[in-house]
Amino acid sequence: MTKLPITPLENWVRRKIGPDRGIALTRSAIDRYQLQALNRTLDHARQNSPFYREHLVGLPQTLTSLDRLAEIPFTTAEDIRRDPLALVCASQDRIARVVTLETSGTTGTPKRLFFTAADQELTVDFFHHGMATLVQPGQRVLILMPGQTPGSVGDLLVRGLSRLQVEGIVQGPVDDPAAAIDHALKEKVDCLVGIPVQVLAMASHRQGPALAGQICNVLLSTDYVPDAIVARIERIWNCRVFKHYGMTEMGLGGGVECSARKGYHLREADLLVEIVDPATGLPLADGNTGEVVFTTLTREGMPLIRYRTGDMAAFRLDSCACGTVLKTLGRIRGRQNAMLEMTRRGRRFFIGDLDEKIFAVDGVIDYRGRIDRQDHHTRLTLHIVPVELQSLDTMKACVREAVLCLSAIRSAMADGRLTVDIQLADGPVAVSTGTAKRRIEHRRERNTCR
Ligand SMILES: [Zn+2]
Repeated sequence: MTKLPITPLENWVRRKIGPDRGIALTRSAIDRYQLQALNRTLDHARQNSPFYREHLVGLPQTLTSLDRLAEIPFTTAEDIRRDPLALVCASQDRIARVVTLETSGTTGTPKRLFFTAADQELTVDFFHHGMATLVQPGQRVLILMPGQTPGSVGDLLVRGLSRLQVEGIVQGPVDDPAAAIDHALKEKVDCLVGIPVQVLAMASHRQGPALAGQICNVLLSTDYVPDAIVARIERIWNCRVFKHYGMTEMGLGGGVECSARKGYHLREADLLVEIVDPATGLPLADGNTGEVVFTTLTREGMPLIRYRTGDMAAFRLDSCACGTVLKTLGRIRGRQNAMLEMTRRGRRFFIGDLDEKIFAVDGVIDYRGRIDRQDHHTRLTLHIVPVELQSLDTMKACVREAVLCLSAIRSAMADGRLTVDIQLADGPVAVSTGTAKRRIEHRRERNTCR
C-alpha cells in the first residue's frame, strides 16, 4: 500500500511556529507556541479593545498553562452583534475589509467582522498551503463562491492559488448549473471549489457527466458537508471530494482534509480550537462531541477569544493515516441550534442526520424543511428540490423511506405525535444560491408542546 502524503499544513505550521527549522513538529511544540500566542492575543485585546478590557477583567496577566484555558470567558455571536466596534483592536485606517453577516435569528441585527490587510494575508497563506493537497502547478480551479469584491473569499482564494502557480477563475455561486458546467468545460478546469448543494446540482444535471474525467478534485466548503453529497459527486465524476471547515469569524479558513479525507486538519498556528460541553461550557476530552470553540492566535483587527461557533463536532482519537501531529476535527454534525426535538420525551436529531438520509436519494439536489407544532402534534414538511421533473412519485416515496430510517422520526410517528409531509418545492426548480447554513423553519401554533 502506498503511503499517503502528509498534509501540507504540517510543514506550514512548523515553519510558522519556528524557530526549530528542520526539526519535526511535535504536539508539545504546538502547545508551547499556542500558549505564547494566546498570551500575546490576550495582551493585545486588553490593551486595544474596550469590550475585552472589561470581559477579561480578573484574569491573571499571563496564563501559565493551556490547562487553564477554561478560566477565560467565552465570546459569543451576541457580543459581536451588540457592539462590534468594541471588539476591534486596530485603528479604523488599518481595517481593510468589513464583512456583514446577515442573521436568521429573531433579533435581525447583523454581525460585523473587521479584518486588516495582515489578517487577510493570513487567510491567503492558509489557502495557499491548504489547497496544495488538491492542485498541482499549472492546473486550473473554478471557484463557485463570491469573489468579485477585493478581500472576498473567492478573491483571497485566487491569490492563494497563484502562489501555487495555479489559476483560480471566479464563477460565483451557482444559480444556473448548466451555465456553470459550460464555464468549467470552456475553462478546462481540473478542480472545483463550491458550496455542497450547488456542486451537487451541477453533478446531477443532465449535462453534469460531461465533466467526468476532467474534474480530478472538488473542495466543498461554507456549509456543513453531508457525506451523502460527497458520495454522489464522487460517483458521478469519479473524482475525489475534499471538505473544508471554516467560517468568516475564523478568517474564512479553519481546517481542511488531507488525502486520507477522514476529518479536518486545523490551522493550528492561527487558531486554538477546543470542544466544550454546550450546556456546561466545560472542556471535553478528545473523542467527545461538543461545541467547537476557537481563539484566534494571530489576528490583529478583531481577535476572537474562546468564540462559541454553535457547531457540533469531536476531535478524532486515532491518528491520521497521513501521519501528521496536527489534530483532526471529525465530521461537523451541524449546528447545536439545528437540533430538532421531536417529542416531549426528548427524541431528537440533528438537521445533519436528516441531510444524510435525504441527499442519499438520487435526484434530490436540495430541500427545505418546516416544523409546525400544534398542541401535542408535530408536522414536519419537507419541500424537495428534484434535479428534473421526472419520476417524482418514486422520488417522494424514496425520501419518505429514507427519513423513516431515523429512529427519532420513526418512533414519534408510531406514537401518533408526528406527521411527515413530503412535497415538491414550489415554483422554478432551484437550489439555495446563497451561502447561508441550512435551517429548518419552526412554527408553533400554541406553546403547549413541552
Ligand atoms: Zn491527514
